[in-house]
Amino acid sequence: MRLSRYFMPILKENPKEAEIVSHRLMLRAGMIRQQSQGIYSWLPLGKRVLDKVNAIIRDEQNRAGAIELSMPTLQSAELWQESGRYDAYGKEMLRIKDRQDRPMLYGPTNEEMVTDIFRSSVKSYKDLPLNLYHIQLKFRDEIRPRFGTMRSREFMMKDAYSFDLTREAAEHSYNKMFAAYLRTFDRLGLRAIPMRADTGPIGGKLSHEFIILADTGESEVFCHKDFVDFDIPGAHTDFDSVEGLQAIFDKWTSLYAATSEMHDQAAFNAVPEGDRLSARGIEVGHIFYFGTKYSEPMGAKVQGPDGKEHFVHMGSYGIGPTRLVPAIIEASHDDNGIIWPASVAPFDIVVINMKAGDQACDDTCELIYAALSKAGKDVLYDDTDDRAGTKFATADLIGVPVQIIAGPRAVANGEVEVKDRKTGARETMTIEAAINRFVA
Ligand code: ATP
Ligand code: MG
Repeated sequence: MRLSRYFMPILKENPKEAEIVSHRLMLRAGMIRQQSQGIYSWLPLGKRVLDKVNAIIRDEQNRAGAIELSMPTLQSAELWQESGRYDAYGKEMLRIKDRQDRPMLYGPTNEEMVTDIFRSSVKSYKDLPLNLYHIQLKFRDEIRPRFGTMRSREFMMKDAYSFDLTREAAEHSYNKMFAAYLRTFDRLGLRAIPMRADTGPIGGKLSHEFIILADTGESEVFCHKDFVDFDIPGAHTDFDSVEGLQAIFDKWTSLYAATSEMHDQAAFNAVPEGDRLSARGIEVGHIFYFGTKYSEPMGAKVQGPDGKEHFVHMGSYGIGPTRLVPAIIEASHDDNGIIWPASVAPFDIVVINMKAGDQACDDTCELIYAALSKAGKDVLYDDTDDRAGTKFATADLIGVPVQIIAGPRAVANGEVEVKDRKTGARETMTIEAAINRFVA
């Protein structure tokens, strides 16, 4: 991508409305724009990061056996009347009437709709287990939308829904998502700790929130500090192994970890004082097992091996991609801007032409840009005629992991500088060496 032809509206000044660093940096880097309270456009740079986050989420959902579909944002109120949640949900639900005066709503979650899809076609235990997910916009008319896309009214959610014949089978489905979440957050460069959680309006029996420790987090959390160094399940984890996944779940729930709603001070006091971590955290994921809470009122049942009909046991599993992007920034930035983990960076490499219009600089940059793009790298080429200082500041602000800098003096020697955004380390090398480093 040539910056001269891209759309990346950088802000020079710190936006006054932004209270936390991630919101400030997302606005300054031109990643998002507020359209009305708690409702955002994702501008091209932000969209790239969001897409990469979603690709990792999708990859791990698929690995764990979940199947992607797409459900609409607008739902009929009837489904929610069946489950009894239409009245219970309150003012957070955006209620709409269509031209025939039929009550509709902008979905805050999809338990009812997915249960309806399930009951319309699954009739036998032989079709279980089943886990269906989508990555879709949600709307919740939050009392206090704030911190940009961290807590917005319209936001994106990956929501998965599992269906099983028995409680035991449903617990295995729960453990699959539990392990998938550990892997997902790890690949996003985050350490998320599963904490016992309240089941809230979704209702249910077993529930964990995945929390990232951050001073700007809205939740108060208490946990054993060893969680910070626990091993993440590997890529070859067997998601069909009941014992294997149970062992992962048991390990990751063996020590104290709870949010303030579920906090038990006496149990926490039993943790040796030096091992206690009481901190603030950001909830990035939440999983529930809720048994037959929706299948019973909505009549979602299958025939079991005994020939009788059974209400299915369900769970639901949410991750917030539009909250994850700022959460990653909260965890990874410095005074100059964002520092993206390579897995979600909007571009892999930025090529900075320090003197656009200078034939040698232009030729060198074009050569590098073409070679790296051909090798499948996402390259941003700063070919604008801004001052070098402005270009450096922009590159640092947008947090691309690697900068390749071509200035007249180095280029005259057939060299460029390669800078690591995270460490700030700079290395001078030949043009060929710079290309080979990232093509190899
Ligand atoms: P919170 O306690 O932060 O309000 P919640 O418990 O209501 O969230 P869930 O219903 O558990 O949220 O939703 C699953 C995930 O969706 C959350 O873990 C979070 O990542 C994301 N999410 C929920 N509400 C919002 C929001 N208003 N803005 C952005 N992401 C959200
Ligand atoms: Mg929650």
